[in-house]
Amino acid sequence: MNVIMKFGGTSVADAEAMTRVINIVRQQLAANPTDRPPVVVVSAMSKVTDRLVETGRLAGERQGDEAAKLLSDLCARHITVASGLVSGGALEGLKRRLAEDFDALTAHVRGWARDGDVSPRATDELLAMGELASSRMVAAAFAEQKIPSAWVDSRQVLVTDDEHTAAVPDMDATCAKTQQIVGARLGAGEIPVMGGFIGATVTGVTTTLGRGGSDYSAAIFGACLDVDEIQIWTDVDGMLTADPRVVADPRLVPQLSFAEASELAYFGAKVLHPSTILPAVARNIPVRILNSRRPEVKGTMITAEGRGDAGALTALACKRGVTVIDITSTRMLMAFGFLRRLFEVFERFKTPVDVVTTSEVSVSVTVDNTRRLDDILSNLRNFAEVNVEPDMAIVCVVGENLRSDAALFGRAVTSLERIPLRLVSQAASRRNITFVMRDPDVPQAMARLHDAFFARVTR
Ligand code: ADP
Ligand code: ASP
Ligand code: MG
Repeated sequence: MNVIMKFGGTSVADAEAMTRVINIVRQQLAANPTDRPPVVVVSAMSKVTDRLVETGRLAGERQGDEAAKLLSDLCARHITVASGLVSGGALEGLKRRLAEDFDALTAHVRGWARDGDVSPRATDELLAMGELASSRMVAAAFAEQKIPSAWVDSRQVLVTDDEHTAAVPDMDATCAKTQQIVGARLGAGEIPVMGGFIGATVTGVTTTLGRGGSDYSAAIFGACLDVDEIQIWTDVDGMLTADPRVVADPRLVPQLSFAEASELAYFGAKVLHPSTILPAVARNIPVRILNSRRPEVKGTMITAEGRGDAGALTALACKRGVTVIDITSTRMLMAFGFLRRLFEVFERFKTPVDVVTTSEVSVSVTVDNTRRLDDILSNLRNFAEVNVEPDMAIVCVVGENLRSDAALFGRAVTSLERIPLRLVSQAASRRNITFVMRDPDVPQAMARLHDAFFARVTR
C-alpha cells in the first residue's frame, strides 16, 4: 500500500517523539516491502509555530532584542533535540545548518523590528522556519538510522498564490512538481521527508497555508501522488465524539464519511485542518487518523461512504469565540438584491461567514475572523441597521443519520433545555444541526449533548 504519513507537532516534539516516528515508518516499510516507500510530512515541533508568531508580534512592537532572544532559544531547543538523534559529522552539519538558518532569520527579524513592521510576507518567512527545521531534523534522523531518505524542500514543490498566511495551492502546478521532484526520490527508493504547512509562489516567495495546514499539505501531496491512504498521525486515538479539552472522556469514532469529517473539521475539530478532505475527495483517497503514541490503535478511517452506528449521531464539534452580526432592514429585505449586497460586503473584506439564518426583516450571520470587522460594519451600516454580539460560539452535531431519523433533531434540542439558543440552523445536506449560543454556555451544552448521544453503555 502506498501511503503518505503526516506527523503533527506533538508527534515530533522531541528526540523521543521523533524516534517513535522513525519506528512507525520502519514498521510501514517492513509491512509493505514491495511497495514504493512512504512519503513523510512533518509539522514544526510542538509550540514552535506559536513561538514564531510571538516573535513576529514582538518585532512588530519594535522589541528586536526580545524577538531575537526568542529565536535564539528556539535554535538552542532544536540543536538539543538534534543532538539526541544524530551523531558525528552529520550532527555537526545539521547544527551548522540550523544555526545558519536561525541567524539569517534573526537578521531579518531585527530589520523588521527596526521598522516596527512585519508584513504578511515577512510573517510567512518567519513561520516557515518551524517546518523547515523539523523536516531537516527528521530527515537527518532517518539517515542516521541508515534508512534511505531525502529531505525535500516543500517550497519547491507546493505552489500557491500570494495570499500570505492563508495561501491557496495551485493543484496543477503542485502536482506537476510533486510528481517530478518527490516522484524522483520515490523512484530511487528513498523516503521523501518534507515540511508541511509551507509552500511558495511561482516566483519562489515563501508562503504558508494557515494554522494547522500541515494536514492539508499531506493531503495535497498524497492526492498528487495518488496514494492509497493519507495518514494523519497525532496525539489522540482518532476523531473523537467531542473535543477532549471540552468534554470529559469522549469516545473514538472508528469510521466517518468525508462529508462528516469536513463538517466536524470546519466547526472546530482541530485534529483535522478543514481543507484536508478536499484533495482526498477529489481522488477518493481514504484518510486515516492515528495516534503516534499508540500506533497499535486502529484510529479513525474516513472514506466516501463512512459508516456510523445505525440511528446514532457521529460526533459533536464546537467553535468558540465567534461573533454574531444581525443585519436588519425593513426597507430592503423584501427587495431582491439585498442578500447579494449584504454578502458582497463580506466578500470584499475576505471574511467567511459560517452560519446564516434569516427572519422576515433580518439576517443573522456568524464570523470567526474579526480582522476586518470594523470595515464590514461600516459598509453594512450604509444600507441596514447592524447589531454585533461578540463572545458567542457554535455547537454543531454531525451525523449522516440526521437525514433519516427525524427524532434526532428533537433529542438534540431537548437535551439543551434552558440553555439560551441564539440561532439554530440545519443545512440542506441535513448532515448537521448548528446551534449558536453564548460562549460560556458551551461546556454545559457539549456535556449535555454528549450525555444524550454518546453515554457509555456501562454507565
Ligand atoms: P497535530 O499537532 O498532530 O496536528 P492538533 O493539536 O492540531 O495535533 O490536533 C489534535 C488535537 O485536536 C487533539 O489533541 C485534541 O485536543 C483536538 N481535538 C479537538 N476536537 C477533536 C475531536 N473531535 N477529536 C479528536 N481531537 C480533537
Ligand atoms: N506548525 C503549523 C501550526 O502550528 C502547521 C501545523 O502544525 O499543521 O499551525
Ligand atoms: Mg494539527
